[in-house]
Amino acid sequence: MLTHFVVAALLAQQPAQGARQFVAVSDSIVALTNVTVIDGTGAAARTGQTIVLRGGSIQSVGATASAKIPPGARTMDLTGRTVMPGYVMLHEHLFYPSGGGAIYNEQGYSFPRLYLAGGVTTMRTAGNMAGYADLNIRKAIDDGTMVGPTIDVTAPYLEGPGLPIPQVKALRDAADARKMVNYWADEGATSFKAYMHITRDELGAAAQEAHKRGLKITGHLCSVTFREAASLGIDDLEHGFVVASDFVPDKKPDECPAGNAVQRSIAALDVAGTGARDLIAELVRRRVAITSTLTIFETFATSQPSAPAKALDAMLPEARRQYEQRRAAIAQSPDTTWNVLLRKEMQLEKMFSDAGGLLVVGTDPTGFGGVVAGYSNQRALELLVQAGFTPVQAVKIATLNGATYLGRSAKIGSIAAGKQADLIVVRGDPSAKIEDVENVELVFKSGVGYDSPKIFESVKGRVGLH
Ligand SMILES: [Zn+2]
Repeated sequence: MLTHFVVAALLAQQPAQGARQFVAVSDSIVALTNVTVIDGTGAAARTGQTIVLRGGSIQSVGATASAKIPPGARTMDLTGRTVMPGYVMLHEHLFYPSGGGAIYNEQGYSFPRLYLAGGVTTMRTAGNMAGYADLNIRKAIDDGTMVGPTIDVTAPYLEGPGLPIPQVKALRDAADARKMVNYWADEGATSFKAYMHITRDELGAAAQEAHKRGLKITGHLCSVTFREAASLGIDDLEHGFVVASDFVPDKKPDECPAGNAVQRSIAALDVAGTGARDLIAELVRRRVAITSTLTIFETFATSQPSAPAKALDAMLPEARRQYEQRRAAIAQSPDTTWNVLLRKEMQLEKMFSDAGGLLVVGTDPTGFGGVVAGYSNQRALELLVQAGFTPVQAVKIATLNGATYLGRSAKIGSIAAGKQADLIVVRGDPSAKIEDVENVELVFKSGVGYDSPKIFESVKGRVGLH
């Protein structure tokens, strides 16, 4: 009985929760004039540009002086603003750590909003703790009853026994891995993720099944080395080199080395040595992408700042307290291993990209809660610049590279005539000052402009709750 009242109340709320309340621009023809354009290809920023949007697509982009603005267009003079492609970020989640018993709470209310408000128009959930919730949220967003990015939904984790997270199934064998891939592909999952205790047999079987269906598989690995995974056909490796077990002395096949042996091996690794360079060459040769997740790593490093005030304000007070206590303990700890690891990870990601590897980026809102969707997506670009990329290169990694990985670069990931009108409007110029990515005013998704500050405001104090 009570359940019925709750459901009725939820249904009654739905129109108010819908995407429309956040729409600031819905005209079918829009001209964004006098903007600076960072187009997502890595090209230099261009000033004095006009972008015309029509029917959800980009009709034209070029110098304002010669731009043809169609009759009936809504003209928005955006002097002082920069327009970039919407982010395509690949290590996102719809869950957040509860801080108790390794349970991750689904943030189906706040996270889709935060991602879009932060500038993400397409994301892959690299891991799923809630099964059908992620699939249904994708549909609700596509239907317009919820606001958020387009989601490439990853199935529940492909993981062996040994992980202390009760939400995750432990695979029995390779046949079980095949069964799981096909079950979730049938249900609508479009991506897969292997985890730390999977065996080579299970990973190989899962990769085969995913590929048969034209889908990709990534992994946060430990039991399987990067080199082994590459030979088994993995498409992408999450977190980059800090989790590579390739350099652990006496690594046993199919076993995740105990304790922090992997971290110690990377801390001791000569990044300029042949071991690192050969692994990078092998990954590039086999066209395995790397997903940079510097945002989660910096939460463990004493050399890096704490989460910004606005991200703290987004947290439920209890979640904020848990985060602040843990962060204070880390800040006072004499253990500076993560400072070294973060620096090495940055160097290795730059080397991988320079060697021709496809570097993509995501945020991974896990750890102890310091990575808050939306704000972290912006922070991810700042950290890529800290890693040595130029601002326009960082934008490319966060846009066109992600679209390329997803096989969607003909439609999304850069600003060009004919592409979907997925755009971010920021005050300032991130090509000159990367922190300007934080000044989002509008996010266009398929030509509809959403009010970013209004969306952020709507979820204050909610992260960690729902
Ligand atoms: Zn993750």
